[in-house]
Amino acid sequence: MGEGSNIEWTGDTLNVFTALDADGRGGWHCEKVSPGCSNCYAEALNVARRWEHGTGLPYHKASRGEVKIRFEAARLEAQLRKTRPRMVFVNSMTDTFGEFVPDEFVFDLLDAIALRGGSHVWQLLTKRERRMRELVTAWLESRRLDELPAHVWLGVTVENAGVCSSRVGELIGTPAAVRWVSAEPLLGPIDLRRIQVGDRQFDALAGRWEGCHPEVGEPHINWVVAGGESGKGARICVASWIQALVGDCQRSGVGVFVKQLGENVHEGASLRMEPLQWPPGTRYEAREARITKRVKLTGKGKDMAEWPEALRVRGWPDNWGGFPSK
Ligand code: SF4
Repeated sequence: MGEGSNIEWTGDTLNVFTALDADGRGGWHCEKVSPGCSNCYAEALNVARRWEHGTGLPYHKASRGEVKIRFEAARLEAQLRKTRPRMVFVNSMTDTFGEFVPDEFVFDLLDAIALRGGSHVWQLLTKRERRMRELVTAWLESRRLDELPAHVWLGVTVENAGVCSSRVGELIGTPAAVRWVSAEPLLGPIDLRRIQVGDRQFDALAGRWEGCHPEVGEPHINWVVAGGESGKGARICVASWIQALVGDCQRSGVGVFVKQLGENVHEGASLRMEPLQWPPGTRYEAREARITKRVKLTGKGKDMAEWPEALRVRGWPDNWGGFPSK
């Protein structure tokens, strides 16, 4: 069954893909793929629950051989039977498109939520953008559909500039009515208006290739969620990174939702230096120069009253009209 949620942008979390270890202990499984995974809350919970009912295994590839991934059909059916429309964050404790998840599990999940789950909104989020594109595209072809319907929101996490182009590029290339980006935990400045695809740049908020006429519309990101990191060892998030993202979304008419500033939020300058080519032929990576100061906030930086006014924004996808009123 859906588990309720304290995540501000959803109603229920529903974990359909669970794990069972050799001793019969149930829990979850995932494998870290990028900097956003370093302080994974799901791993911490899985390990901490070892003596209750968690598998106790860390989220490493090495754990894969020790667990069997399970499909929790009964939980999914119970969620589908709920009559009151809900937002449902699917698989909050793992990655729906993880390479350890059998293809048929993903197909069964999509069959259920896309074909039978139209009274709810199902929120999918991944850091496995290539497998997401492959599996969603294969599922759509097999079911003779053009795109994921509007009640299945397809999203990628983008925590820094290093993963931005790949994740957003693959998302834009996956047919879906609603696409979203979770910029949380935000670990550096990101620019969704400059996505590098091959040797071309794409504005993923406006849906426009660089140099193309504004009327030539392409798919774009419909919703952005942003926030800093919380929990033990929370890494720095500079408020101006979130502010820039909010401004970019607002100028493009894209829905934006600031979830929290996190437990290590800084104010001040974070200057992104552009990549140079000097001497000619040498490539330098973009670097950041930071002159920042930590801001003391209560709790996890969730109290909006403590935020700069410009960040008190909680919008929804630009093409979502809300649940139908009774
Ligand atoms: S993909 Fe998500 S659940 Fe998996 S290790 Fe990374 S942060 Fe944790």
